[in-house]
Amino acid sequence: MAAAQDMMTATVGEALSGEEAVELAKRHLVQPWPTAGEIGAEARSLIGEGEGIYITDGSGKKLIDGPAGMWCTNVGHRREELARVMYDQAMQLSYNTPWYTMNEASAVLAERIAGHAPGDLSHVFFTTGGSSAVESALRFMQFYNNVRGRTEKKLILSRGGAYHGSTYLSASLNGRPRDRDWMDGADDLVVKLSSPDPFRRPAGMSIAAFTDSLVAEFEETVKRIGADKIGAFVGEPVQASGGVIVPPENYLPRIRKICRDNDILYVSDEVVTAFGRLGHVFASEDVFGIDPDIITFAKGVTSGYFPLGGMIVSERLLQELRRSNHPSAMYAHGLTYSSHPVGCAVALKNLDLLEGGILAHARAVAPYFQAQLKTLEELPLVGEVRGVGLMACVECVADRDSKNPLELDRNVGMRIDAHCHELGLLVRPLINMCVMSPPLTITKEQIDDMVGILREGISRTMEDLR
Ligand code: PLP
Repeated sequence: MAAAQDMMTATVGEALSGEEAVELAKRHLVQPWPTAGEIGAEARSLIGEGEGIYITDGSGKKLIDGPAGMWCTNVGHRREELARVMYDQAMQLSYNTPWYTMNEASAVLAERIAGHAPGDLSHVFFTTGGSSAVESALRFMQFYNNVRGRTEKKLILSRGGAYHGSTYLSASLNGRPRDRDWMDGADDLVVKLSSPDPFRRPAGMSIAAFTDSLVAEFEETVKRIGADKIGAFVGEPVQASGGVIVPPENYLPRIRKICRDNDILYVSDEVVTAFGRLGHVFASEDVFGIDPDIITFAKGVTSGYFPLGGMIVSERLLQELRRSNHPSAMYAHGLTYSSHPVGCAVALKNLDLLEGGILAHARAVAPYFQAQLKTLEELPLVGEVRGVGLMACVECVADRDSKNPLELDRNVGMRIDAHCHELGLLVRPLINMCVMSPPLTITKEQIDDMVGILREGISRTMEDLR
């Protein structure tokens, strides 16, 4: 407490200046993903307010929320109807234990979600976010195979470029550069495959040949390790935090078939892609033509207004468990905040908004969003602009012909972010990439503003690097 002695005691709502709030955070807040040199001492931009697609920083500057928080504020900021429903639900029932009671909002929400899910996905287990959703799916796979007597069938297939969370097992699946350099993981449980990244495919290889090579790698891995040892494949339909990697056409259905043929559960991690990011409630079937065994979701389910996630499980798997020789075996897994009534109530209202026009708007505006961003490929620093729906990534390179990556210490993503911030746009820098995934309510005029600022931010960065 020594460091706190000379600090004021602040309460929320008290008028602190932006600098004072940042100073408190530096003294007392451990923020996500710090470096060892900055842990517990870091200054980050203070965001004070949000409205629609905009947020306001600590100095009062209005910014377009380019990444929609963390791909989550899908219906935009300051939606009174969402705030109201949270208030009403908290006044009616703020919490009930999901251990031996249930609440109405969670049952209604589960039914609505199952109605949108592909195939026979019929039941929802609610969690507190994406990592706990992935963790729940993996523990479900372990339980499912234990009950079936396939106690050796536990390995998990994941891919380079993947991001699945920050709990121990979900983080063990992550495959982006630097995610695991200083962090341990359950490496004995995970087998990594290549990222389906068409931009980084071997030089001279066609997309069709690249797809075949990915499928062959998957098949060979299953053969080499043995299907009796592999419990699940976990994959994002579009690798989001890996840099919006849109897989080649027909790759996912081919992987889905191999999983089905080998009794490997296909877990589609839709933490980013669900609830409107690609214009549909779920993208697995509507965009990519696959019907997974489990879908995980979070983020957009409440548009970030409340921490909620979940997994949707296939009826077939549940029936197998119910009819097993071990009907009293316990899926010893539950969270204090599973099926939280306030989270489920706000998710229901959020779904009303999405179905009431925002999904259709996202589908209508997405081609314009992609086309306008694509024009940034004119800039010499930009190697590729790629994306689908309302998610896109601008990848910068040292040299466009060789696609050689820029050296990390050039901090290109951070530089673009800093310039864009000055110009009125928040971007999400990822090493040499910038990810754009604004609230789904963005209009064509606002897309023009966003792309104009990004163009200027990249041009200024090119000047810096000269
Ligand atoms: N899965 C995917 C695809 C994600 O992008 C993320 C977070 O960005 C997660 C899981 C983890 O979600 P959370 O941060 O809510 O735990």
